[in-house]
Amino acid sequence: LPEEFKSALPIIHTLEAAGYEAYFVGGAVRDTLLNKPIHDVDIATSAYPEEVKQLFDRTVDTGIEHGTVMILDHGQGYETTTFRTESTYTDFRRPDQVTFVRSLSDDLKRRDFTINALALRGDGLVVDLFNGVSDLEHQTLRAVGHASDRFQEDALRMMRAVRFAAQLDFTIEPDTKQAIVDHAPLLEKIAIERVNVELTKMLQGRNAQYGLLELLATRLNAYMPGLKNVEIDLWGYAELLAKDQPDTPTVAWTLLAFELGLTPKDTETFLRLWKHGNELIQQAQKAITLLNVLRQSEATNWQLYMTGDAFPNAMRVLQLSQLPNDVLELKNRYMQLAIHHRDELQISGKILQSAINLQPGPMFGKILGELEKLVVAGQVANNQSDLIARAKAIAEKEK
Ligand code: ATP
Ligand code: MG
Repeated sequence: LPEEFKSALPIIHTLEAAGYEAYFVGGAVRDTLLNKPIHDVDIATSAYPEEVKQLFDRTVDTGIEHGTVMILDHGQGYETTTFRTESTYTDFRRPDQVTFVRSLSDDLKRRDFTINALALRGDGLVVDLFNGVSDLEHQTLRAVGHASDRFQEDALRMMRAVRFAAQLDFTIEPDTKQAIVDHAPLLEKIAIERVNVELTKMLQGRNAQYGLLELLATRLNAYMPGLKNVEIDLWGYAELLAKDQPDTPTVAWTLLAFELGLTPKDTETFLRLWKHGNELIQQAQKAITLLNVLRQSEATNWQLYMTGDAFPNAMRVLQLSQLPNDVLELKNRYMQLAIHHRDELQISGKILQSAINLQPGPMFGKILGELEKLVVAGQVANNQSDLIARAKAIAEKEK
């Protein structure tokens, strides 16, 4: 057992000693069997939430209505969820009702894919009701039970299918794939934020290319904002992903906007439809502004400068985009800019005021703005005497 499981064993043992069943479940079990590092350890138990809380001193109700209680132990938190079934999905997205049950098999049955439906007992026994171990060995992604029913219950699972396939480099088994084709339109029922989470993980997967090609083959893209009827661009993106994958959400989405040929303004509109945060949107807009220049011609110093803190992301996207631009040379040019920020100008409003005897006002900003441009262009050195001399000249001219 990996360390993360070992340190959680006391929790399993406490539950078992009280007469309940308790197992490790979910992604951590899958990843352990794949010899991959694990993120969070999830425990499933026959104990009801109130029974769990009675057994442990320190617990937090993180999702008590779904049966989840976080147990705090040695500075670690372990999500412990009561075995449950989910019944009557009428809106294709979440269960109308969660029912706590005492049987592990009922709990495993409601899980999405066979490789995610494994349970690991404290003594190392693996409970494998749906041949998940065999699917792990054959790198196969297969829905638990009848795929068509499972996607109708919860359409997000279709996105999870392409996401896991990309992350794990697994093949989606034919019946599961056909069920995605059949139910792709249901994706529109899912909150865009949740689709976004899966797509973002998919684009960073080690076989992101396969994930994106399966997404296209099943037509899931037709039910996503801004991705309908842009198959050619998305094929182009998939081709890029064969060689290397984005390392962050910002890079993944900026590259997508770039491959779609969007303007900075359209990039914002597109990313807002996907409910991205302002930080990612601003980064993408600044990067796209520079990238659209680089697609056509050389960038000026000013254009490099204006990219600001989005410059590293822009360069990463440029690398992935396979454009012929010399990324190293651009990075050098950026590093060698005289300033990277207006506040690095060796002159302040105060000095300006006393040196050229000018009252604060719009003229101030105008002069500072011009000095900034001249310094970035390398036409004026960034030292106080040169800047004051030039400021005087500008003020004179403006009079
Ligand atoms: P990751 O490493 O990305 O966290 P994971 O398998 O742990 O992968 P989670 O989203 O954390 O994925 O979910 C934990 C487990 O809960 C899954 O392994 C699966 O058994 C179950 N699960 C999660 N979402 C669904 C869903 N939409 N339908 C059915 N089962 C689900
Ligand atoms: Mg998880």
